[in-house]
Amino acid sequence: MSQEVKPAKVLSPNTPWTERSVPGVYVLTEQETFKSSFTEPTVECPECHALTTRTAMSFNAYVCPQCDEHLRMKARERLNWFFDQVDAELGQNYVAKDPLKFVDSKPYVERMLDAQKKTGESEALVVLQGHIKNIAMTACAFEFDFMGGSMGTVVGDRFVQAAESAIQKKQPLICFAASGGARMQEGMLSLMQMARTSAAIEKLKEAGLPYIVVLTHPVYGGVTASLAMLGDIHIAEPKAMIGFAGKRVIEQTVREKLEEPFQRAEYLLDHGVVDQIVHRHSLRDTVYRIVGKLMNVN
Ligand SMILES: [Zn+2]
Repeated sequence: MSQEVKPAKVLSPNTPWTERSVPGVYVLTEQETFKSSFTEPTVECPECHALTTRTAMSFNAYVCPQCDEHLRMKARERLNWFFDQVDAELGQNYVAKDPLKFVDSKPYVERMLDAQKKTGESEALVVLQGHIKNIAMTACAFEFDFMGGSMGTVVGDRFVQAAESAIQKKQPLICFAASGGARMQEGMLSLMQMARTSAAIEKLKEAGLPYIVVLTHPVYGGVTASLAMLGDIHIAEPKAMIGFAGKRVIEQTVREKLEEPFQRAEYLLDHGVVDQIVHRHSLRDTVYRIVGKLMNVN
């Protein structure tokens, strides 16, 4: 940090040596000292605007300690938090191609590289296998920061592999959904993933294995219309926005003003779309308990 060097104080011969400033050393003002005391990166809550250090947020599973707002969690961080122990990662061998050579304001390939750089993930779905206590599970989570968690062919491939591996190992499948929908850069190929993932879930059901969906903020479009609404149990996080088309599009179509909490998890719970709203701090235990009951383990 380049700082302007303050001129050294004019000292009288009586100034004690402890108060003499060293020439060339910049002394912070009181306000600057306050600012520099936040040495750790902080996260601002979008609801109450409280600043919390990233470490404190991480320990609190990204729930605001001030107002209980559930902030977005990164896919990998969420799965690592969810499992007691991680055994394997699936689907890393699938890499996206650009079959349509799609270009909007930017070429698709470039957009993909930007997303990879921003998130550190190779695609918008992370699949891990691991344990919570004595139960082995397969779990996948959407990375919303990766092109809006959109479902392209690789997301479809990874989800299908997760389901097939779960069947082979007789494990339940848990999906943490957070997505804007299909990936328009892959056109029809992206829409086909709705059918593919639905078929994979059907196989899971035929094998008698539970498929649990955790709806996190936000879930929209093709993901809502396929894998996110086909769970045996639908759990939602508080205040998550869940829908197919966005609120604005619906308002324009029906020409009515839609008031809060339209499309919020609480509204969907009242209307039977969601089975349960669970606080993030209770989520692990809730999923463990449900899976245990459904699989006759505990
Ligand atoms: Zn807050």
